[in-house]
Amino acid sequence: MKKRFALPMMIILICIMLFSGCGFDDVVKKYSKNITSYNIEAQYNDTNQTISAVETIKYINGYNVPLNYLKFNLYPNAFREGATYKTVSTLDIAKAYPNGNSYGDITIQSVKLNGNNVTVNVGGDDKNILTVEFASELYPDETNNIEITFMLTLPNINHRFGYGANTINLGNWYPIACVYENGEFFTKPYSYNGDPFYSQIANYKVTFTCPESYIIANTGVIETENVTSGVKTITAKAKAVRDFALVLSSKYEVLSQEVGETTVKYYYYDDENATTSLQTAVDSLNTFNDLIGTYPYHILSVVETNFVHGGMEYPNLVYISDAITDYLDYKNVIIHEIAHQWWYGVVGNNEFTEGWLDEGLTEYTTLLFYKLNAGYERDIEEIVNNVLDSYLLFTDVYKQVFGTVNTSMNRALDEYTTSHEYVYMAYAKGMLLFENLNSFVGDKKFYMALKQYYADNKMQIATQTDIVAAFEKATGADLSSFFNAWVNGTVVIENIK
Ligand SMILES: [Zn+2]
Repeated sequence: MKKRFALPMMIILICIMLFSGCGFDDVVKKYSKNITSYNIEAQYNDTNQTISAVETIKYINGYNVPLNYLKFNLYPNAFREGATYKTVSTLDIAKAYPNGNSYGDITIQSVKLNGNNVTVNVGGDDKNILTVEFASELYPDETNNIEITFMLTLPNINHRFGYGANTINLGNWYPIACVYENGEFFTKPYSYNGDPFYSQIANYKVTFTCPESYIIANTGVIETENVTSGVKTITAKAKAVRDFALVLSSKYEVLSQEVGETTVKYYYYDDENATTSLQTAVDSLNTFNDLIGTYPYHILSVVETNFVHGGMEYPNLVYISDAITDYLDYKNVIIHEIAHQWWYGVVGNNEFTEGWLDEGLTEYTTLLFYKLNAGYERDIEEIVNNVLDSYLLFTDVYKQVFGTVNTSMNRALDEYTTSHEYVYMAYAKGMLLFENLNSFVGDKKFYMALKQYYADNKMQIATQTDIVAAFEKATGADLSSFFNAWVNGTVVIENIK
């Protein structure tokens, strides 16, 4: 009896071990080893909207070539007076700057390399890059310690970085290491098209100080929080994340709910449907955990903000704009931004050169959410047809006005002539690509391919080659010419209707 009982038990145990893969914490534990870490101590000054900070980076050369220098992106300088590349398109200026022009920037006060002061070298196409020369070559897996002392001035703008009437948004706010590829660091300046960001995963410890009246939403988990003489200090840690963002507001109310190992938090100040909004976030997390693979972090914060666009994704934290008037749109943005936790967050990509890869797939994953959650009562066919019709109308009008239309998605953000063109190619055409693919391979294989793409590329940087490989592995079909036709613009979309 014992034997007969023991054998199936053993098989069950082995099956559980085989099919569950790594445990929840094991994914982050595995990928947070031997990677760069950022330790930032920052103080927010409420009287003049400035932040003084010291950032210590333990930079590990994760590439297979020696490095003579390192470059950092200085995104806050896109908001400075006289910046070459604008923060928003002309159409969005009034919405972004509620009180007229306002400027902000980052001033690098000092840089130390392994304890020694080095020259502050800010350059790039638009004062967007800090270069730190190394005293000697940094070989693969070797570490340099870099300490950057800096001061931020926040602009009055409803944007990723800046302050508005209700929130202080700190996205892309500190010097972050550029990605090294093809023999150089990727140093493209800001673009108001899309999300002009690109980074590797790293570990973070952020100590942030502000007046106690502020409630702080942030990437990672708050480990300590204390208030002394009206000053609040939090220390938050996040391992194996691509970036670190915070949002502050003295008006926040907070709702939360547990989903497996993750706490979902909803920060809001103007939402009469707050419990439904939280539920939408919870449903999104549950759906994508099953559809794609388990979200590997302990926190997911959905944060209402003053924001010019619909929403914005950061690791563990998403902005949702308080300017969205239609509640269906508001929920749609929650679902879309949460889908980005998989496509951009865990599976990274160069958002500057291959914006369609995360945006197109995120749009389609949002559509799949509605397909898998009938209670949301969204007509999938109608959504696809509306996207298709508006895409065709766009290309038709473009052709009439300019004589020709470039339908290539294989373009960097600065190669699109208008923000509309980018949105139609990366979002609309991107979504249609995946809908067309799904109609060929069927739901079962399509869902397997999503899991494959996630499993093969988690915590890495993926490209078109990687998504083609994952879909080919899962479907057994040769798909490189299918993707090339869509991405390079040769497919005739009228024919898919
Ligand atoms: Zn998006």
